[in-house]
Amino acid sequence: MHIIKSVLRDAADSLALVSDSALLDAEILLCLTLNKQRSHLRAWPDKPLLPEHLSTFNSFLEQRKKGIPVAYITGNREFWSRDFQVSPDVLIPRPDTELLIELSLKLIPADEAIKIIDLGTGSGIIAITLAAERPHADVVATDFSLAALRIARLNADKHHINNIQFYQSNWFTDVPKTQFNLIVSNPPYIDEDDSHLQQGDVRFEPRTALCAAEQGLSDIKIIAAAARNYLKSGGHLLIEHGYNQLQQVQALFKDLHYDKVQTYTDLSGQPRVTYGQWI
Ligand code: GLN
Repeated sequence: MHIIKSVLRDAADSLALVSDSALLDAEILLCLTLNKQRSHLRAWPDKPLLPEHLSTFNSFLEQRKKGIPVAYITGNREFWSRDFQVSPDVLIPRPDTELLIELSLKLIPADEAIKIIDLGTGSGIIAITLAAERPHADVVATDFSLAALRIARLNADKHHINNIQFYQSNWFTDVPKTQFNLIVSNPPYIDEDDSHLQQGDVRFEPRTALCAAEQGLSDIKIIAAAARNYLKSGGHLLIEHGYNQLQQVQALFKDLHYDKVQTYTDLSGQPRVTYGQWI
């Protein structure tokens, strides 16, 4: 009998080789199939599946077995308690990036009309979260990819955000000359030869969103150097980077004469976001 609990168990077994979260993946894909929440699966473990549901679920499982990330199959991922649309044109939102949000919110007074820019916005998670949490702020979001900007705009509309302007731009090249209070970015920072790129979900994500030259540092260098021309005096720069780039990023910020340079650690204790103030 194809009842929910046995279908889930078999699916989890069949995904065990490709995923470290096989049962969760199976549950999410079954929820997508049935258009129900996970609580439904728990409430009705003995409910039989309709043949059409079974065949849809199997087609999702086949995609997952090929390694396709769950977020690209479902087309969405949660970030900072909001749901974001994603596609293979954009990086899948990571919980790690919530550190960047936390630090940004601490720097931004809730009731001031300040200016923020998010460089390389991808699905728009950073810009949209900051715009939603700080409705008085004027937010600019850029990406060089038009396909990514299309997704980011859809996400802004979905969350009824009207304090963001989007620009297609290669970092600052097409940003109107403005002085910002806060510049944030989660740029590409993985070395092109990093062996992690051959494993798991990242194999399916856009290389341009993940990788940068010079041991992953080339885009961070461009952003940190150019940001000096776009920051108000006293303005803040926050850049996410790899756990192994602490020394290089700190040295870079200091060479560029940023003040109060400091690196913050994520929940697993890894140094992941570096801060600098432009005096
Ligand atoms: N800003 C987006 C995110 O944090 C995209 C980042 C990227 O593509 N490197 O997910």
